[in-house]
Amino acid sequence: MQNITILGATGSIGKSTIDVLMRHPKLFSVFALTANSNVELLLQQAQLCSPEYVVVADPKQFEAAKKLFSENLLTCEVLAGHEALEQIAGAPEVDIVMAAIVGAAGLLPTLVAVKAGKKVLLANKESLVMSGDLFIQAANKYNAEILPIDSEHNAIFQCLPTDFKYGELSSSGISKILLTGSGGPFLNLPLSKLHHVTPDQACAHPNWDMGRKISVDSATMMNKGLEFIEAKWLFGLESSDIEVVLHPQSIIHSMVQYIDGSVLAQMGNPDMRTPIAHALAFPDRVESGVSPLDFNQLSNFTFTEPEAERYPNLILAMQASNAGQYATTTLNAANEVAVDAFLQGKIGFIQIAQVNEECLQQTSPHNLDTIEAVIESDNAARRLGLNIIGNISQSSMQKVGT
Ligand code: NAD
Ligand code: MG
Repeated sequence: MQNITILGATGSIGKSTIDVLMRHPKLFSVFALTANSNVELLLQQAQLCSPEYVVVADPKQFEAAKKLFSENLLTCEVLAGHEALEQIAGAPEVDIVMAAIVGAAGLLPTLVAVKAGKKVLLANKESLVMSGDLFIQAANKYNAEILPIDSEHNAIFQCLPTDFKYGELSSSGISKILLTGSGGPFLNLPLSKLHHVTPDQACAHPNWDMGRKISVDSATMMNKGLEFIEAKWLFGLESSDIEVVLHPQSIIHSMVQYIDGSVLAQMGNPDMRTPIAHALAFPDRVESGVSPLDFNQLSNFTFTEPEAERYPNLILAMQASNAGQYATTTLNAANEVAVDAFLQGKIGFIQIAQVNEECLQQTSPHNLDTIEAVIESDNAARRLGLNIIGNISQSSMQKVGT
């Protein structure tokens, strides 16, 4: 029986994780569940999973959560705040930590799990984008096992040789990693119409049902950019080892090309329960609840190159990845505030890339060799990003006024 903490239980990945866990009550028990502020859903999940602890990250929700849990006669302990997140991520009773908080908020609790030598199921790609080298060094030093949940990285992991050594592509006979992406909901929209797309249109992904931040990132393809950086750190790759391929059907989740001409692909219906079940049970396999592919229904597999003009965020992420850790940390933070501003209607869709680009241009290279430095750099980029957003909204209001 393996004991699991789910960081970000109330999100899209968290809910899929609980769905898989509930299919295997003899294999897994839930130690702790966390939410930012959705205490009602956390209560329902606790009623289903009987954890020992629940944590609400937002301390303002602490009293409401305690009251709700005691009214409903739940005996689990209710904790609040970011220290509590770290406490339950590194607790000695825990074997597996699902890192499924969205954004930079996931960095510190995920790192605690890594430093406690846990089996870490990594959905929170932002933590690796922000702290790459430090994260991988900590995983090696503390013997943490990092298993990718992102469907592309999970697919690559499944297609690599089982004895693959970090960064050693050529000795494994590998010529290329093919990172697939759907292109999002605006793949075929005339470029001139991108100015007017709304948050709801951006969040309506054609194949995947995800949280709002990653949905917008999929529409701008910043998500693929973050995944490009994530893949480099996870498998020890150079930029030239990776090719991004558009595959709008989202059935192939990524591929590994070998020097003899073979290409191994991992396929399946677009449902995150597959990579979650894979990582939970690894190296065994368990049932996930995902329906098998019906090959009679699969036609029209297409593969194209992403257009640079349509996806400037993808290009920015690749450039940042080559510029170094300061640039990917800056880009990640700028993008988080820009996506938030877009979701709140403060800037337009195409201005997300403008904020990101200006933020990168206005940031000088600096060393990030401690987590404190990473967090400082993240905070500085957020402040800068918010300033740029303020200027953009002001100038669009002036335009409306004239
Ligand atoms: P989501 O928005 O649906 O859920 C986010 C979770 O994080 C929620 O439980 C929320 O309460 C919690 N949270 C948000 N802000 C927090 C904060 N400040 N402090 C503590 N907790 C906080 O997001 P999601 O779609 O489930 O994505 C989670 C992570 O997984 C992201 O990093 C995303 O990039 C990655 N991911 C998601 C998918 C997917 O299909 N949804 C696929 C691949 C990778
Ligand atoms: Mg992905």
